[in-house]
Amino acid sequence: MIPFLSLKDITAKYSDEIHEAVSRVVDSGWYLQGKENERFEQHYADFIGTKYCIGCANGLDALIWIYRAYVELGIMQPGDEVIVPANTYIASVLAITENGLKAVLVEPNPDTLELDDEKIEAAITKRTKSILLVHLYGRCAMTQKIAALCEKYDLKLVEDNAQAHGCRAPQPPKGGDTTLVGTSKIGVNLADPILYPLLKDFANQNRHNPTEAEEVLWNLLSHRKSKSPLRDLGASSDLWASSDLGASSDYKFRRQHIIDQYIADFACLEQKLIIEIDGKYHNLKGQAEEDAIRTRVIENYGFRVIRFTNEQVLFDTENTLKAIYDACNSPFRGLGGRTGSLGHAAGHSFYPGKNLGAFGDAGAVTTNDKELADCIRALANYGSQKKYVFKYCGRNSRLDEIQAAVLDVKLRHLEEDNALRQKVAAYYYEHINNPLLRLPKRLPDEQNVYHLFPIIVSPFRGQWGRDELHDYLEAKGIQTIIHYPIPPHLQECYQQDIKEGNIVVPSSGLPITERLANEELSLPISQVLTLDDYKAVVEALNAFGK
Ligand SMILES: *Cc1c(COP(=O)(O)O)cnc(C)c1O
Repeated sequence: MIPFLSLKDITAKYSDEIHEAVSRVVDSGWYLQGKENERFEQHYADFIGTKYCIGCANGLDALIWIYRAYVELGIMQPGDEVIVPANTYIASVLAITENGLKAVLVEPNPDTLELDDEKIEAAITKRTKSILLVHLYGRCAMTQKIAALCEKYDLKLVEDNAQAHGCRAPQPPKGGDTTLVGTSKIGVNLADPILYPLLKDFANQNRHNPTEAEEVLWNLLSHRKSKSPLRDLGASSDLWASSDLGASSDYKFRRQHIIDQYIADFACLEQKLIIEIDGKYHNLKGQAEEDAIRTRVIENYGFRVIRFTNEQVLFDTENTLKAIYDACNSPFRGLGGRTGSLGHAAGHSFYPGKNLGAFGDAGAVTTNDKELADCIRALANYGSQKKYVFKYCGRNSRLDEIQAAVLDVKLRHLEEDNALRQKVAAYYYEHINNPLLRLPKRLPDEQNVYHLFPIIVSPFRGQWGRDELHDYLEAKGIQTIIHYPIPPHLQECYQQDIKEGNIVVPSSGLPITERLANEELSLPISQVLTLDDYKAVVEALNAFGK
């Protein structure tokens, strides 16, 4: 018998450490809002790469609190719209509708099964305030295009990271994979190794012969400790005084910085931001395409590129600086971070079957937004920030100390466990070979922690289909599960909301989502599945229909 997921075996793997942690809490006499929560929240925030982590009762609550806080803070109003993938677990949609917001359903990409970024813009209206991006099945759904849309339409990007703990956004394709991860290791060496000596000479020459605009901007950006006007502006100007990043964040710019085969005019490695100043020759024919290629290569290293003309720098200096400041403070500081740190806030579920699972219900919110974090911490604790004083009408949605202690143990092993899942997935990709089955397409820079391993079984001459495969495997002792047999928009609970327009289904319907519900089947995958197990799964699959 090959179980879909053996929680018993998963727990047994770290049994001693877990028992030690649970006993510690039991013996401590302190069961809520104590040291275990504090420690786990700190470790999880560090792991995800955000400033704040707030533990709460479960993953659904985590998502509900994020949107409730946006409503409480006046950033969203009831009736505002949130874009969400139509193919997701219903919790994602509930978090929106629970708060009186409208869920606008968008189809997945049939190859990756993640939210189709090509279909988002058509769903954006004046009332769209947010995208709820679900990293479904453990795969990162974030793209540069989604980041660009959020910036263009000023949308809050909220991640549903219930299925992708430990996953990262796509890595740069070459050069510096670890150099772009985390600010401490950033920028070690992104240059093309062969061209580097030549580029270095060029960069030095350019530094000694700046254009007028480069000189002006360098005087404004150069990082002479506290003297950078950008820093001063951030700290003192009315415009920026409200941001706590203004005074403290690191705006260390370098000029003539080499990336791949290019020399960027200005680079802030900490912010993953490139500033290019376009001279006259940028209007020449062919230059636009050259610039586009250059931008794409630089973006592939996880940077964002913003451009200014000479005139903007020289004659509209204040707005140029403001644009740079805004770019520095945008949450989309390039790709390469972990899911859960890629947008404005993220909800995480630690339901026992998730990659990071507790011994019951548990969840958390991660964010860099202090105001949002404070509000959520209050909401999840009866709306209270001070004992017996209630700022909001909250609920009791706390993470208990035993769960926090268990999660802290399991977090230490998450990366090694995810690597084992990836090993199983690699075997499936290499060895499953049956024309009746389709695996999600892998992209070169895809990142996936394989919470689930979905395959697609298209009906074959009306005889062989997903349900037949499920029964066939069951008969061989192999357990599989469908994720999900009925999509949210076809659930009974939502029929009235659809009629009333609280849930928006595109006029063309959701055929891809509905087809997935009929054709998806998830294979066994976990950190405790043995080679014999997954070999047997592959053998059975390859013999199916023959
Ligand atoms: C599990 C899950 C949730 C909800 O988490 P709970 O802890 O069960 O409330 C939310 N979204 C997705 C995509 C999930 O898979």
